Amino acid sequence: MKNTNCLALPFVFIAASFTLATAQKSEDELNRKTAEIHAKVFTVDTHIDWPSNQLRNPEFVPRERHEPGERGSGQWDLVRMKEGGLDGVFMSIYTSQGPRTDDGHAKAKEHALKLIELTQKMVADNPDLAEIALTPEDAYRIEKAGKRAIFMGMENGYPLGKDPGNVKMFHDLGVRYITITHSRNNELGDSSTDEKKEWEGLSPLGEQVVKEMNRLGIMVDISHVHDDLFWDVIAQAKTPVIASHSSARALCDHARNMNDEMLQAVKKNGGVVQLCLLGNYIKTMPQNPERETAITPLREKLRAARRGELGDEEARKVWEEFQAINTKYPANRPTVQDAADHIDHMVKVMGVDHIGIGSDFDGGGGLIGIDDVSEMPNLTKELLKRGYSEEDIQKIWGGNLMRVLAETIKVSKQLQAEGTSSH
Ligand SMILES: [Zn+2]
Repeated sequence: MKNTNCLALPFVFIAASFTLATAQKSEDELNRKTAEIHAKVFTVDTHIDWPSNQLRNPEFVPRERHEPGERGSGQWDLVRMKEGGLDGVFMSIYTSQGPRTDDGHAKAKEHALKLIELTQKMVADNPDLAEIALTPEDAYRIEKAGKRAIFMGMENGYPLGKDPGNVKMFHDLGVRYITITHSRNNELGDSSTDEKKEWEGLSPLGEQVVKEMNRLGIMVDISHVHDDLFWDVIAQAKTPVIASHSSARALCDHARNMNDEMLQAVKKNGGVVQLCLLGNYIKTMPQNPERETAITPLREKLRAARRGELGDEEARKVWEEFQAINTKYPANRPTVQDAADHIDHMVKVMGVDHIGIGSDFDGGGGLIGIDDVSEMPNLTKELLKRGYSEEDIQKIWGGNLMRVLAETIKVSKQLQAEGTSSH
């Protein structure tokens, strides 16, 4: 026995180094293929909250590279976007839900206009790096020119107030999707995370707004809405719908995620669900008890801060306290592999033609391995490892979303032609 062992040992070493070399080779091959795909296909993320980040941190310079993880670095800038092979983004024109009074609606509109202005200014300040995109053609042209395509999507219909005429105003300013509600009910309908239903889904005003969005060519976004509202939109919309940042409820049971029946309805509708890379919507992770003890007293305030209910100064203090806890007791977070599990599930339920990516970076998104725009290729790599083809990845990274935008614009032109001929 002893002799055999002595003889076998060198072979074990040779075999081990051979396996290592093969692993390195396949890793290199994977990286090469990933880079090749990002260079070739149009990639877009449908939800980044940079405008809100910029409003909070006016000194942030989008054309400078910010070191990931450093204080104030955010998860998006133009340099890291290029680094991550991300060609396009929908900047989120996000308004937290406030009082539904005339004054509240006026302030919400003002806030949304401010974020649009910030986004337009960012593009105007960086003509060599970015351009505003309104259509798929714009996006592909901008990509070819080696620049970043900047779309805008409005999160929460609150700034529309009670006037459907505002839909056209925001359309003309470049908004190409509207998320009907955010975390609470508004005049347009019910949210998935409010305490109780108020409208049984879409309100009569909400129905008018969806109709107007269809007519103008704005994608209807059903992320954040109550399931009843989702089904109302599916029944009413004349265009494919999008979920700009939502994940699968079968893998992570959260009201913000979509169950399999809803995913199948999106497939039938021709729409697309853009996977949200926010930990709470990806996987429930066991947390360090010390972290829980530290965070519990802060939880109510964090919720209020997220809802925009606190003053700027108080909100800043709450975030700082939260950051300090995060540094002391880092959260146990889901990974890029967990995100890919959602993609696998969605593909099983609705096929590869109805999935995309909406990270929610700068708005709570970020997982281990995909924590800012520069790390987008890690998801591509994971999909390649799981056997997804280049064509599948092209669809997931942008092809599907661009198809929905093109169809939305096409239908709007038909509706407008019918509208003029019937008058
Ligand atoms: Zn959101």
